Amino acid sequence: MDHLLPVQLVELQGVAANLAETVIAPLAAEVDAECRWPAHSMQAFADAGLLGLQVPSELGGLGQGLLGLCVLTETIARACSSSALCYGMHCVATAVIAAKATEHQRDHYLREIAQGRHITTLALSEQGTGAHFYLPETRLDADGEDFIVDGTKQFVTNGAHADSYVVSTVATGAEAGDFSCLIVDKGSAGMQWLDAWAGFGMRGNSSRPLRLEQVRVPARNLLGEPGDQVWYVFEVVAPFFLMAMAGTYLGVAQAALDEASLQLRSRRYSHSGEALRDVESLQVRYGELWTDLVKTRALVREAARRGDAAHPEALPFILSCKADAAETAVRLANEAMTLCGGAAYRENSRVARLLRDARAGHVMTPTTGLLKLWTGRSLLGLPLL
Ligand SMILES: Cc1cc2nc3c(=O)[nH]c(=O)nc-3n(C[C@H](O)[C@H](O)[C@H](O)COP(=O)(O)OP(=O)(O)OC[C@H]3O[C@@H](n4cnc5c(N)ncnc54)[C@H](O)[C@@H]3O)c2cc1C
Repeated sequence: MDHLLPVQLVELQGVAANLAETVIAPLAAEVDAECRWPAHSMQAFADAGLLGLQVPSELGGLGQGLLGLCVLTETIARACSSSALCYGMHCVATAVIAAKATEHQRDHYLREIAQGRHITTLALSEQGTGAHFYLPETRLDADGEDFIVDGTKQFVTNGAHADSYVVSTVATGAEAGDFSCLIVDKGSAGMQWLDAWAGFGMRGNSSRPLRLEQVRVPARNLLGEPGDQVWYVFEVVAPFFLMAMAGTYLGVAQAALDEASLQLRSRRYSHSGEALRDVESLQVRYGELWTDLVKTRALVREAARRGDAAHPEALPFILSCKADAAETAVRLANEAMTLCGGAAYRENSRVARLLRDARAGHVMTPTTGLLKLWTGRSLLGLPLL
């Protein structure tokens, strides 16, 4: 527990850590091996009141911002990265709904989420525009009181398990940039889940393509005003998504360090009686890895605090921290694989799983390539796009 965090957040971190240890960690290997969506984790979050992390307190939620999100996803990912990803995507989509929620959206979605009765998630990415997730090609047409949505989303985390999906669209015949986000309820006529995706890592997140064929969505499910999607993407989706991911990959990095520590302490040679931790060069290496981890955590939390405070210089912190967390996760998992020796270098060892999970950090949008570009552009006074 980090007692330097705000008191309410220390308590929430304690609740999450307890669930991580008792409910989530014991099934993490099965989640990975069977590509199983972690229903047990999501149910535990619902029962503990954690699904409402991003719901305002006046609607019964926990009213947390970016700092709460990165701390909780890190705590969960230390036990199971897929559970952290599923929880994180639910939290990001919740924040998107909450940003400009109408009375209907508050009652129908946010209060239900706070009560642990509703899971939501993000469906933004598309095959056609890939890493450029802010450029949807899914079409939106007004039809009387409703909208008609037509297109295909790729990699929808919590796919086919969530109760609603925050979908990005572009109005047919609109000027460039006239995008909108709306909430599509599960089971809407015209929704079709395509083949499940078996990932290299992050295998339990049920990330699936979703075909939306002439799906009729009531106008009251539109988020904000028509054409607001660019505001949503850069003001809400990006910061919350980056914090959820940065927290998740920090948790992966911490878990890799945990594994290295365990092995350095427990592995003892019969010929010398020496433990691995008695070897000086390994002490130096372990210290360097720990330093990498705490530097990244400091950057992530600084970004979160600045974002929560709407600090004028928050942007480069927020943009850089997820790329840094992904690099730290890959480096620490890779190094743990070396430090743990042959014990780790076997099929589906915990370290092998962490190394596979860590690799997703670079390709999940916004990708490391784009984030580094945007960080430099923001620091040099250039527009991001
Ligand atoms: C485990 C997992 C879960 C996911 N969950 C979700 C989800 O819940 N919702 C959702 O909407 N999406 C989700 N995604 C989608 C994810 O965000 C996509 O992987 C992302 O959009 C990348 O798309 P792509 O694979 O087509 O990459 P591509 O567009 O093919 O890019 C390939 C590489 O080229 C780089 N690149 C491209 N253009 C540039 C440029 N101009 N400058 C620098 N580098 C560049 C990219 O950074 C990337 O590394 C998930 C993905 C994964 C792996």
